[in-house]
Amino acid sequence: MNISELKGNEKIKEALCGMASETFPHAAIIEGEKGSGKHQLAQFIASAIVCKVDNSPCGICTDCKKSNQGLHPDISLLGEEQELRVDNAREVRRDAYIRPNEAKRKVYIIANADKMNVNTQNAMLKILEEPPETVVFLLLCESKESLLPTVLSRCSVFSLLPPLGDNISEDPHMEEFIHTLCVSTDYEILTQCVSLESLKREQFSDFLFLLSKTARDAIVLQTNGINSSKAAQELADHYSSEKISRIYIMAQEALDQIQYNASNAAIIAGLILKSNSLRI
Ligand SMILES: [Zn+2]
Repeated sequence: MNISELKGNEKIKEALCGMASETFPHAAIIEGEKGSGKHQLAQFIASAIVCKVDNSPCGICTDCKKSNQGLHPDISLLGEEQELRVDNAREVRRDAYIRPNEAKRKVYIIANADKMNVNTQNAMLKILEEPPETVVFLLLCESKESLLPTVLSRCSVFSLLPPLGDNISEDPHMEEFIHTLCVSTDYEILTQCVSLESLKREQFSDFLFLLSKTARDAIVLQTNGINSSKAAQELADHYSSEKISRIYIMAQEALDQIQYNASNAAIIAGLILKSNSLRI
């Protein structure tokens, strides 16, 4: 695989391209939601480590081919079908001290690392604390929060953002709302907010969810330059990330209020008050 096939996440790709395979940290956590490309990234790093060509992975040598086919003897993929248990972790520890077969370093890709229980994590910790120089562990998880702080402290963390470019959904109503928020007078913003009152509860909740998603996408767009919806694009062009964060929080708080059965009118009054702070 070529790193450019991994969508988005420009900063991580930049960091990896500047990292020689010999100096890649002995343990890394790759964190990201389903579909964010964790396995692709782990596969790329593993190939880079076993490939002996400069600017690895070259993608065409025997090592790269074996790696891409899942057949390289120095790359182990564990925990995919079932999460790693204590006895598996002990087995990994024993195996890690055996020298690599063909490459300079062995790679253990541990899928679902956040599903490992405390005992298993502690068993892994023993090898993460003092690993042989010839091994690299890649711990894949949806959220690093489920890992013990002691495990976290031994690992570099790569947090992947989901690819936004693939599922851009344009929403004319949101586009109009964001456009008003960006270029209109206070009175027009007020009128726009008041018009939300006629929405049914579920529609209002969907609207707020989309508003928070649009704000989040706009921040990601500013940071990573990933293609996004028109509404997110306009927001990113018009406001600083700090102000977009306020919009995100505003939408999230309004969603919380919906859970507590606050009326549309009360929520909208809050939105109007808070939207004033965007002008400052
Ligand atoms: Zn190669």
